[in-house]
Amino acid sequence: MVTTRRQIVSAGVAARVTNAGTNAGSTVTIHNTGNQAASAGAAAHANLQSNGNSRAASWHWTVDNKEAVQSFEHTARCWHAGNGTGNNTSIAIEVAMNMTGAGWAAAAENATQLAAMILKQRGLGSGALRQHANWMAKNCPEWIRAGKDGYSWDWFVRRTAAHLGGAAVLPPAGGGTVTLHAMGWRTLYQGLTGDDVRALQNWLIKAGYSVGAGGADGSFGPATENAVIAYQRAAGLAADGYVGADTQTAMRAGLGVVTPGEPVASGVGQLTADGWWGPGTTGRAQEVTGTPVDRTVSSQWQGVRSANPGLVGGWEWVQNPKGSALIRAIQVQLNTKRDARLTEDGIWGRNTALALQAALGTAADGVVPGPSPMVRALQTNLNNGRLF
Ligand SMILES: [Zn+2]
Repeated sequence: MVTTRRQIVSAGVAARVTNAGTNAGSTVTIHNTGNQAASAGAAAHANLQSNGNSRAASWHWTVDNKEAVQSFEHTARCWHAGNGTGNNTSIAIEVAMNMTGAGWAAAAENATQLAAMILKQRGLGSGALRQHANWMAKNCPEWIRAGKDGYSWDWFVRRTAAHLGGAAVLPPAGGGTVTLHAMGWRTLYQGLTGDDVRALQNWLIKAGYSVGAGGADGSFGPATENAVIAYQRAAGLAADGYVGADTQTAMRAGLGVVTPGEPVASGVGQLTADGWWGPGTTGRAQEVTGTPVDRTVSSQWQGVRSANPGLVGGWEWVQNPKGSALIRAIQVQLNTKRDARLTEDGIWGRNTALALQAALGTAADGVVPGPSPMVRALQTNLNNGRLF
């Protein structure tokens, strides 16, 4: 569970930035801080409130990737909602926006744990969660409303419910109906047991993810959830730990994924390590990362094309790139396994090349000549079922 600490503001400060009376605490309102400065974490926001926030605003909790800090008692009527009812009846959580990637993922997760703790303490369910936007016309919590990296409002509510011990946590979309999907499994999530959970675990193990010391034991615990989330992130899916229709469809498409050292069983076959990145290399990389296999690196920025002649057929060069699931999966692996701190935008560029070159131990020049030592090393690894 998220680490919490109290740093309650002085009575003098509280008197200046809260309404008189007692907060009913019948709902919990989620905000995003709106501050992307690296220093703007939970501690900084708590200090700002302790020192007498210069703005006419106040809130009960700030949470980031490391901790949750409480600034006001839950009885305080803080000024966070822009609406009298919201201020007088709701407890406010500000979720920090000072980190991206894994940092944002941890902050979002911590916020759901904190929300669950407060709801549980007050005997409320996830139905008592509110967005700032529910009280007034403001795009807050901005990143959660945008579903940044898959951490959407829908995810937030379901995740909080899961922390509450929610047997009521059921599939996200489709009105809560449990349907059979491509893999023939129920929607699977932490807490379930059964043969379908065991089948999921076997798939994850085959794809190279650990499901814990117990192996495929048919019990969906935290290690299995971590494996699912890691797979979802690598595959560019909403990383919510729920194995529903989207994840099962992607898993089925990625069945060609092999464990290291296992011979390639798919249609793409063994690569010749020639140092040229064309459709075959892309197809194998898509199999290995579990991303959809179309042998195309879609929507890449044309500005890097001339400097990278080793990127040949199957690269789609455009003026306004949207990125590809494969490049994003490579960036995610570089970030999670090599702490590369790349922007996970799915767009090939100098920083991604440098990080992959470092991971592969080839010359770090940030470009892909034709042929390229980096691509040659990558192709050798792909034939063994891994990127690096
Ligand atoms: Zn807000």
